Parts: sequence; structure tokens; C-alpha cells
Amino acid sequence: METTRRGFLSAATLSTAGLVAAATGIGSLIPDQADAATAASAKSGLNKTPEELDDFVFDIEHGSKGYASSGGTAKEATVEEFPISQSIAGVSMRLNPGGFRELHWHSIAAEWAFVLEGKVRTTVITPDGTTSTDDFEVGDIWYFPRGHGHMLQCIGDQPCHFLLGFDNGHFSEFGTFSVTDWLSHTSAEILARNTGLPARLFAALPKKELYIGTGEIAGESKPANINTAIPVSSSAHKFRMETDAVLQEFKGGYTKIVSSKEFPIQNSLTALRMNLEPGAMRELHWHPNADEWQYVMSGQGNVSIFGSHGRVKTMPYSKGMVAFIKQGYGHYIENTGKETLKLIVLFNSPVYQEFSLNHWLNANPTQLVADHFGMSLKEASALVNHQTGIY
Ligand code: MN
Ligand code: MN
Repeated sequence: METTRRGFLSAATLSTAGLVAAATGIGSLIPDQADAATAASAKSGLNKTPEELDDFVFDIEHGSKGYASSGGTAKEATVEEFPISQSIAGVSMRLNPGGFRELHWHSIAAEWAFVLEGKVRTTVITPDGTTSTDDFEVGDIWYFPRGHGHMLQCIGDQPCHFLLGFDNGHFSEFGTFSVTDWLSHTSAEILARNTGLPARLFAALPKKELYIGTGEIAGESKPANINTAIPVSSSAHKFRMETDAVLQEFKGGYTKIVSSKEFPIQNSLTALRMNLEPGAMRELHWHPNADEWQYVMSGQGNVSIFGSHGRVKTMPYSKGMVAFIKQGYGHYIENTGKETLKLIVLFNSPVYQEFSLNHWLNANPTQLVADHFGMSLKEASALVNHQTGIY
């Protein structure tokens, strides 16, 4: 209740004189300090123009400098490149045959990924000491909790491409905790004591991070670990999103949801695959519990957001671009092209929630809705005939 009331007050803060007066009136009845402060700022903000809505679309493939070596490439969208995206960072990574993203971990973010092309093998260590090696194909996702050591490797003689998502916009793929970075900056004698290997092996290491290395091309069959006695983890880090997610079909497309219900280890995010057919739109809606981050797999569209104070902003996007919609902001998506608009979507909550405008209107009395918009009863009643979702 507290949150809802504050939400109303802050929404009214810089609005029209009528709303400000209403907020001030309510504020004076509330003894709470924070609410009183909000009401006071509402009063002083009478003549202020609300700030414009920030840009919320970014071209991840062309907008950032990124990394490239013979082993592969990485392009990222963190708060540096895409300031609005405070809660989620993304990376588009490609590995060539024989390429591997070295053993590393992330101190401030969990890692999520969706395979777009080719095949990828991962290894991950779990706090109970168990390990798992998994192979991923197009449409599969992985999730590694924050701090869990892992590795990514291209399998076979075709390159692979995957989209990485991190549950912290301040995370940068170029500042991870990589094994070569650590060992190449630690005394060779200490490492000899630590591993039982000769110090000369460590003394010869180049003083820098390998990041994406190259080696033998990995085959289809899984090789044995150095110590074959280490048990296999029972935590499932892999989910076959394209085939096993919860499918909802609509007239103009579909959604496939993977929340923590379907994929328990994915406990900081919910993932969604969405298709909008040419001419279709994803209806006006909002999410009460999460920011929304989108990556365009193919096609083109318009995303439009509503941020209160009469602020609506619409931006176009197309293949290889990302969009970010703040928690609680109203929005819709239109397919403006001739091919299917395919999206990969992340929410920074393990539980999926949405409010559909159509459903909300239908959940109110006919007369009341008619009075809002100056419609006749007959016109308002016709709302019941419309669909929700994508049409
Ligand atoms: Mn990683
Ligand atoms: Mn949405």
C-alpha cells in the first residue's frame, strides 16, 4: 500500500496544476516524512517542465567498439554505452571453431545466454564442489549464478553466436575475473606451491588476460575432466527454451516464457521469446515487478513507452539492436516490417507479471469506462470483443 501511495504522489509531482493540488492535498493528510517531502516538491514544481524521456534503444552490434581476436568477438551494451539500462547488460559474442572464452567468473552479475547460431559447450563449477559440462544448440539458454566459475567453447567446425544477458547494467564483460589475469599477475613460486607444478610454467605466462583463446577444435563427444572422480552437478544450468518454454499463441504471434518456475536456477531473471507477425502489435501493457530488456533477433519494429506527465516516446529498432523499458512504464510494440519480428526479452525478476490495458479496462464497470473517454455505453461494452496479447 505504501509503495502504491508514494507512486501516485511522485507521478503527480511535476504534473498539471490540478494533479499537483490533489497530491498536495493528500500529502497534507499523511504524517510520513517522505510523503510530506514529495508533496512539498510537488508544490515547488508547479512551473517545471518534466524531463524528456531518455533514449531506450541501442545498436549493440555497431554502437560499441568491442573486442576481436582470431578466437572470436564480443560487443557489449552496459550503462557506459546504454545509460538507461541500469539493471541489465548485454553482450553479443561470437566464437570461431577452436575458440573458447577462458575460465572466469563474474563478481557482480549472474550470466544468462541464448544461442543464436552454432553449438556451444560450457563447463561450470558449483559451490558444492560438483561440476557440469553442457552442450547447447540454437534456442537453448544457460544460467550461471553470480560468482560461479565457467567457460564457453565453440563446438565443431562452424562458428557460434550467442547473446549474453547479465542481471546488472554496470557489469562489463571486459572486467571479468579471468583465470589467466589472476595467475599471470601472481608470483610463480606461490603458484608452484599452490598447484604442485614447476614454477617455470607460470613464470613464462604473458602478463595479461587471455579472454578468448584458441586451441583444438572441440568435437561432439564430451572429453573427460582432469579428475574424473569429481561428481557431476545436479543443478541444471541448461534449458531448451525454443522447445520447452511455456507457449502462448495469439492471432498475431506467440510468446514463450521461461521463469524460475520452469528453470529454477534462473532465480534473478525471467526470459521470453516473442514473435510478432508482419502487421501485428503487442498490445499496450506494463510490468509491475520488473524492467524489460529486449534484443531484436530479426525483423524491425517500433517500441513506444509511456512515462507519465504526458510523456510518450516511440523509437524504431531492427535486427541486432536492444531496447530497455523501465519497470512500470506503459509500452507496446509494432511490427513495421515485412518479416517476422523476433525478440529475445529479459525481465529482472524470477517471476513474470504483466498488466494488459485491454484486460484492465474490461475489469471495470461499463459506465465508468464510458465516462472516462466520453463514450456511449454501447461503445464501451464493445471492449469485451477485443483480444489481448499480440494481434
Ligand atoms: Mn561469463
Ligand atoms: Mn512488455
